[in-house]
This record gives sequence, C-alpha cells and structure tokens, in this order.
Amino acid sequence: MNSLDHFALRKLDNLDQVLLRRRLTETAREDGLWVQRDSRRLLSFSCNDYLNLSHDPRVKQAAIEALLRYGAGAGASRLVTGNHPLMAELEGKLATFKGTQACCVFGSGYLANLGIVPALMSAGDLVLIDELAHACLHGGMQLSSAKTAVFRHNDVQHAGAILQAARKHARHAILLTDGVFSMDGDRAPLPALAELCQSYDCWLMVDDAHGFGVLGQGHGASATFPEPPQIPLQMGTLSKAIGGYGGYLCASQPVIDLMKTRARTLIYSTGLPPASAAAAIKALEIIETEPELTAKPLANAQIFTQKLGLEEATSPIVPIILGEAGAALKAAQILAENGFLVTPIRPPTVPKGTARLRFAFTAGHSREAILQAAEIVATLPRTV
Ligand SMILES: *Cc1c(COP(=O)(O)O)cnc(C)c1O
Repeated sequence: MNSLDHFALRKLDNLDQVLLRRRLTETAREDGLWVQRDSRRLLSFSCNDYLNLSHDPRVKQAAIEALLRYGAGAGASRLVTGNHPLMAELEGKLATFKGTQACCVFGSGYLANLGIVPALMSAGDLVLIDELAHACLHGGMQLSSAKTAVFRHNDVQHAGAILQAARKHARHAILLTDGVFSMDGDRAPLPALAELCQSYDCWLMVDDAHGFGVLGQGHGASATFPEPPQIPLQMGTLSKAIGGYGGYLCASQPVIDLMKTRARTLIYSTGLPPASAAAAIKALEIIETEPELTAKPLANAQIFTQKLGLEEATSPIVPIILGEAGAALKAAQILAENGFLVTPIRPPTVPKGTARLRFAFTAGHSREAILQAAEIVATLPRTV
C-alpha cells in the first residue's frame, strides 16, 4: 500500500478504537423541523435553524426569484465581478439592524473569522481568546502570526491578568469570544469584557453565531444587557437563525473598508451566490417585523430545562453532558429509537470526558415534543 493511504487508514483506525471517528450521515431536511434519515422520519433537535426560516415560503420565494434572474453562483470574488447589488442591500440592512456604521458579508461564518483576525493582527500584536471560543476564531488567531493567549472560559479576571502582564509589550491587542457558546449554550459576560478591553485599549470581537436572530429581540447577545456593551467587532453567521448561508462582520466604516481590501477570505474566495443574499435579506425582514418569533427558541429551551430541573437556559442551546463518547453515542441512539434526532458531540469538539447531547431548540418545536424528549433524557445512562 502507498504511504498516503497507509497514513490515512492508520489515523482512521486509531479514531475508531477510541470511538472518535466521525461519519457523514445522509440527512434530508423536510422542513425546519423534520428530517429523513435511514428512511426514518425524525424530529430534529440538532439544527441551528432556530427560526425555521430555511424553509419559510417567503425566504424560499426570494431565493428562487434571485436564482432565476441572476443565476446559481456569483461568478467570481466580490472584488472582481461577484459583488451583486443585493450584497450592498444585505450589508446595509445588517449594519442598521446591528447598529453599526457598516458591514462586510463573507462566504460563511468560518471564512469571516479566518479573514477578519489576520487582517487586523500580525507579528508584534496580541490575540486573547476564550478557551471555548469556536474553532474558526481559534483558526483566525492561528493564521494571524500574532502572539496568542488563551484565557479560562468566561474568566474576566484571567483575561485581565494576561492583559496586565502582556499588553504593554504588544502594539495592538484583540480579545475574541463567542456571544453564546456553541456547545454549552452559556453566554459571555460581555459588559465586563467590554469594560476590561476599554481599559487596556484592546479590541473586542464577539462571534454571535448563536445569539443573532434569537436573543435581544433578534439583535443578538449584546442586546440582552440593560446597557449594551461597546463591541467594535460584531461577527455572525447567516446560516443559523437566518436560515441560509454566509457570514458577516458589522463594525465601523474604516474597519469594514479595511476588510474589503485586506481580508484574504473575502478577496480570494468567490462571492456569496445572489440567491443566498436575497434569502438573507428576506429572513432579516421577518426577524425585524416579528420579534415574538425570535423569542420562541429560548422559551422552548426553558420549557426543557425546567422540566428536567436544570439551570434555566439562557440561549436556545442546552447541553446534556453524559461523560464518555460511548455514553453520548448510546444516548443519541435511544433518542433516535424514540423519533428524535439529537447528534452526539464528542472530543475534540468538546473537552475529553464531557461528551454530550446538544439540544438546539427552534421556534417550531411543540411543547409536547419538548416534554417527551425531556422524559427520555431523564432516564439516560451517564458516565459522569
Ligand atoms: C457555526 C459557527 C460558525 C461558523 O459559521 P458558518 O456560517 O457555519 O461557517 C462560527 N462561529 C460559531 C460560534 C459558530 O457556531
């Protein structure tokens, strides 16, 4: 056997042995809630389509019209010919909704973070990051060639101690965090982080992939505080509550202008398909005009946490930590046998020994289904 295949097979074998090999499972989503898997129909608690907008008839219609008129793809990078007029409309709407001067839309949330951080930070600078921040924030940090420091999860004092020791040696500093943490569902202490960052002239960047559209009447995690914290770099995705695809950064005009000339994932990657821009514009209009819809995913998560006697949910994400990878796999299987899709999450996505089921609640889940799922969860075998 050639060395490449030998290498791949050995890696796969090692992963199999510790139950950490992942496999793609064919899944056809019927609507915003139900999926077809292995010719079975399951109610999904694993989609980040919090408002079920991916299948909203108005959103689909907007995408269809743009697709028929403008085609399936953008044709080139936005800096070449891929900057369809719908992009300016979408960016204008996002900036207004987030209360910033300007916005830059990227091909995805992942691409946004890989582009934004290195466009701002380089050798001689300092990047601080929450240990549980999303993989693509860590990725952006690694691409930046700046000095890096990881602070303990949501530990403002630890971040402060790092800044105290290292800020004076760095030209610029940035602090990266999720607004809502994707695997735990808890929120960052944004006012305290914002205050800390201001006192050290450190730029705060918040990835609000799971807050946008569902917290603070849809405006995001930062809008849930009585006094909205100062966050100069507000990043998010169009692929969760918005229901489509794409990523964004909302910030001041100079920062956005810099992104559009320096962010490599914007410059060297094809623009978002016009149909995706049209879908996102329509979804944003729905969010703006239906604040009661945006409140439902969190309310549904709270029905679940209350039933199970857990700490009240503060986002639509509720983890049920089961321990070893095997326990999470088994739990997912039990839920599937009862008609529920809840994907098990294992290391390295989450720390070792904290394999879990990750429930994501959407506006469309019924109270009965939530209570039924909670009853099954109460009986799951655990290894923690
Ligand atoms: C999903 C996610 C991303 C990536 O966004 P995509 O648009 O799916 O690439 C980034 N950050 C966080 C916190 C996420 O949960």
